[in-house]
Amino acid sequence: MRYPASVKAAVLYAVKQPLRVEDVDLDAPRDGEVLVRIGAAGVCHSDYHFMNGDLPIGLPCVLGHEGAGVVEEVGRGVTKVAPGDHVVLLFRPHCGYCEFCSQGRPALCWMAAQLRNTGRLLDGTSRLSREGEEIKHFLGVSCFAERTVVTEQGVVPIPKDVPMEVAALVGCAVMTGVGAVMNTARVTPGAAVLVVGAGGVGLNCVMGAALVGAHPIIVADLVDAKLETAMDFGATHAVNARTHDLVEGVRELTNGEGVDFSFEAIGSPKAMAQAFQALRRGGTATAVGIAPAGSELSISAGELVYQEKTLKGSYYGSTRPQADMPRLLQLYRSGRLPIDRLISRRYPLDQVNEAYDALLAGQVARSVLIPG
Ligand SMILES: [Zn+2]
Ligand SMILES: [Zn+2]
Repeated sequence: MRYPASVKAAVLYAVKQPLRVEDVDLDAPRDGEVLVRIGAAGVCHSDYHFMNGDLPIGLPCVLGHEGAGVVEEVGRGVTKVAPGDHVVLLFRPHCGYCEFCSQGRPALCWMAAQLRNTGRLLDGTSRLSREGEEIKHFLGVSCFAERTVVTEQGVVPIPKDVPMEVAALVGCAVMTGVGAVMNTARVTPGAAVLVVGAGGVGLNCVMGAALVGAHPIIVADLVDAKLETAMDFGATHAVNARTHDLVEGVRELTNGEGVDFSFEAIGSPKAMAQAFQALRRGGTATAVGIAPAGSELSISAGELVYQEKTLKGSYYGSTRPQADMPRLLQLYRSGRLPIDRLISRRYPLDQVNEAYDALLAGQVARSVLIPG
């Protein structure tokens, strides 16, 4: 390929403005970097936090953090993958040797924070530009583009028979939701589970709970159609929190007790507090959703102690990507994790703004962009 290569990408120039789909310049991968042709990119709600200014970010920036593709070229020193390999992209790449990586908690590694905070790759520069002006990378991924350059630590090789759109979802929603259930909370068979929020991540919490044999699996949302979808993915009971009190509804369904495990998959401090309140004594609430910057949360200090309740955070499903992602894909191939059924729409990259409008209107479980 000749560099800089011209690639179509969706660029955020200013908050509360539509993304601009245009040709940008992509430089060659440098040492330790990988050029990936994007096969599919998930339309995840988290990008929207940056579009509307809930979370700060350096601009302009090519968004997209849930993606999969095919390696086309590698920089010097890359040993993990070779051209032709299929990969999932990671928005929390990790170094493999720091304290948190050594403890088996690579989602907390310094590397991801550096990529996120700088909007550049590890050498402190960007591969993206337009008319000589720098464009930032997004969480080291920037997969709302035909091609992207990422750090070698930001890819996990996968079998070639896995559909790109399924692999893309494993890169965020599936890992985040199923990982929260299996890795962070370690839900046990027969445990009563509540999932608050039936969007892309919430549905994955439901799938994870079904996979580990939880029962009942109660889902709460404000939209009946989303509750019905959740029932298709393994929820056993539903509470419409617009028309019913969420905590009371959960108690009614659990003999007045509450649930052993709850998951908040919206990013709302109020919903997180409700997830905590809906626990039975000894229960664990796991907050998964990304809340706007500066949000604070209020819970009962008495219940925390007297009832030995636990409140945890789960980022990226407490992932260990090289261990978890092949396993999740194996569960998909065996039919135990119907990831493909999450995908309700496909859009070309040009329609990225329409895809976000549909997401915000609650019309889709997950849609994917097909950039090629
Ligand atoms: Zn995401
Ligand atoms: Zn590390």
